[in-house]
Amino acid sequence: MFENLTSRLSRVLDSIRGQGRLTEEQINAASRELRMALLEADVALPVIKDFIDKVKARALGVEITQSLTPGQEFLRVVQQELTATLGGTAEPLNLRTQPPAIILMAGLQGSGKTTSTGKLALWLKEREKKKVLVVSCDVYRPAAIEQLRIVAGNVGVDWFPSQVGQDPVAIAQDALAQARKQYADVLIVDTAGRTTVDEDMMKEIAALNAALTPIETLFVVDSMTGQDAAKTARAFADVLPLTGVILTKVDGDARGGAALSVRQVTGRPIKFLGVGEKSDRLEVFHPERIANRILG
Ligand code: GDP
Repeated sequence: MFENLTSRLSRVLDSIRGQGRLTEEQINAASRELRMALLEADVALPVIKDFIDKVKARALGVEITQSLTPGQEFLRVVQQELTATLGGTAEPLNLRTQPPAIILMAGLQGSGKTTSTGKLALWLKEREKKKVLVVSCDVYRPAAIEQLRIVAGNVGVDWFPSQVGQDPVAIAQDALAQARKQYADVLIVDTAGRTTVDEDMMKEIAALNAALTPIETLFVVDSMTGQDAAKTARAFADVLPLTGVILTKVDGDARGGAALSVRQVTGRPIKFLGVGEKSDRLEVFHPERIANRILG
């Protein structure tokens, strides 16, 4: 995860770590190197600019404290600004509503929606001790409905049947009625995705969102797509009241551009990371921990 970014940053920061005194030129040079590292990581340009401006301004204004050398102080500034870029503090999943709490999953086809629905269902069941019902509103692909049925079986949560050709809103409402009947705590609604952002998909998911008024509308996005992930998230956030993001396939992402861009580009917090294909490969997102991991 983010190996390239970590090794690139550690090269920049190692050269500065032991410095007893930092000149303006050294700070400028280190900032240029940081900028290159973030460009290589495919971070969105406005995010890079903001990050570098803040690091530089703070580093130039650094007072020499007794406990830290200026080199260490620079590292601390980078660590803090990285944490802020990632969202500052963790924003946990919000289930504070009359049960069943509804979670709507949005995203492009192949982003990992169905896999993440299973992961989230397992996490809610095991960690939060919740009774979960899942339903697929992908009325275009029978394979997607079948995939969710299998995933639900594997993680041991209830699955509500649906069929190709049905109205997605009607399916979701029937599932909600069933969730109430069986006293489920959480209903997770998986939805259809397309390969690109398109108007029909947006209308359909907006209608589902309006009908269900979910407590969480989560955007699932593939980390490997770099700053495009942030752009797609932005397109969805413009249409849907997204409450958070699940960043998937982070296990295969050596660069880290999506993780660093999503929060600032969309204004929405990353809530979970998908770190593998298996159902237990889901991590709650903690900005500070990820910043520390990136810094190695
Ligand atoms: P959907 O079309 O959005 O529902 O996407 P799927 O859930 O079917 O996932 C698409 C592919 O991505 C599948 O092969 C999944 O196994 C894979 N996938 C999903 N999440 C992750 C993840 O966090 N890590 C890895 N390595 N693969 C993932």
